[in-house]
Amino acid sequence: MSTDSKENVRATVQFAGDACIDPSFRGCCFYESDSTQAAVLLRQDGDIVLSEKNGTPLWLRRKQGSSVLDLVAVRPKPLATNEILREHFSTHSFSHLLPLLHFMREVAGQPETPAVPRQACIVIDDPSLYFTSYGFINFKKLAEHAKQHGYHVAIATIAIDAWKINSRVAAIFNDYPDNLSLIIHGNNHLWQELSADRSVSWLRAILAQALQRFKGCRLQNYAPILEAPYGTFVAEATEQISQLGYAAALCTPSQFIGLNRQSAFPAAFGSGSTDVFPDGLCTIPRLVMSEDWRLEIAIAAFLRQPIVLACHHQDFFEGMGLLAEFTAAINRLGPIHWCSLREIAKANYSLRKENTTLYITLGSRNVECRLPPDVNAVVIERPWVKQQERLILMDESGTNATIDILSGVATEPLTWKHKERSVLRIESPVLAAVHPDTVEPPARRLWPVVRKVLQEARDRLYPLLPVTLISYLQNRKTQRYESTAQSSRIAKGSYARP
Ligand SMILES: [Zn+2]
Repeated sequence: MSTDSKENVRATVQFAGDACIDPSFRGCCFYESDSTQAAVLLRQDGDIVLSEKNGTPLWLRRKQGSSVLDLVAVRPKPLATNEILREHFSTHSFSHLLPLLHFMREVAGQPETPAVPRQACIVIDDPSLYFTSYGFINFKKLAEHAKQHGYHVAIATIAIDAWKINSRVAAIFNDYPDNLSLIIHGNNHLWQELSADRSVSWLRAILAQALQRFKGCRLQNYAPILEAPYGTFVAEATEQISQLGYAAALCTPSQFIGLNRQSAFPAAFGSGSTDVFPDGLCTIPRLVMSEDWRLEIAIAAFLRQPIVLACHHQDFFEGMGLLAEFTAAINRLGPIHWCSLREIAKANYSLRKENTTLYITLGSRNVECRLPPDVNAVVIERPWVKQQERLILMDESGTNATIDILSGVATEPLTWKHKERSVLRIESPVLAAVHPDTVEPPARRLWPVVRKVLQEARDRLYPLLPVTLISYLQNRKTQRYESTAQSSRIAKGSYARP
């Protein structure tokens, strides 16, 4: 599909620069492919056009006495069975739902106590750490570039590669802890490694082996956080991931639901600022690099989610300018804290303050909460708890468990005076924790090694290709992203990128 024909089937949506538009969309122009027929809005004097689609008003704001009336030319689509809201608020279609979400936010009000500054991290999938570079990524140059522009990159390395980390690469990671970190990108990176219909014991063996393979990793900024190969995993894996001690799992909601629709996740899954799986596993929303990455960022920012953008080394075949572009686009949204995914997992909670009592809703089993002033008591809420589970509260040093109790979904108010201890560390241990070393690894097979060698060779030879060919291949990938976004929900969910 040529660029011209692509633009023919995509509409431009322009937002006003008006202060009533959320800053993530204010003054922006994005494409969307949703072609739902819109009604004609008749403008009156004094109306403010808040958005236009292909130059026609889509969203008007009108004053009526002391009230404000919003007129929208298209009604939001009803959710089908087991669909989630996030599937209707995506790069494919966003303009119809946005006015309603704005309205609901205006009625409900902004959260009284913002939990943490907005966080961001860029993830680069696949690099092994055998040498000082991988494809178009040179680790030293990347670290220096990240330091210069103030961003953070998490390298997602496949566990089969974790047996050897080049000492010079290790030194770079340790020298730039604010800019580089390491996470787990699956075990063998086989097709549907965690997304096929497998037995629970098989999933457990694969997930445990990945942790075993990283056991010798001495990088100070390594975290047992899972980014599944091909972006997703079956819902049955979340319990195993949690029990084995992973701190979090990255998840692209539309892909996850496409694969797990029968599991009937709540309609709000993936739309909140603090999501957690039913097993208490922290989920970090993951954006997939595409030509619509600016819109992906705007949607995540509007939802008050951390901005985690997953890329590949070949996305930077023209240099690291694109990384600087990402950083500038994200920093435009306001104060941004660039950090590791471990830090993002620890900040996965929301706050609500009533008088001097602070309600902390956890989205992670380990959080560090900086308390607002005038807090004398805290109530800890854990949405996943079914009966009674242990809960530990510590001060900033984390050396002494100040409170160690059993509680259900919500605790009674617990005395915790802010003036003495402004940082509260909360741990919610897994009930049926499984040590990875106690799990029998899967039977040895030759194919994972052969496949890994082929992948390594392909990625390392990539920079030797003529730039025109690389450019052609990258454009084809862009078109694959787009055609995926326009296809069925199931196809969206099963979309995968190596
Ligand atoms: Zn990968």
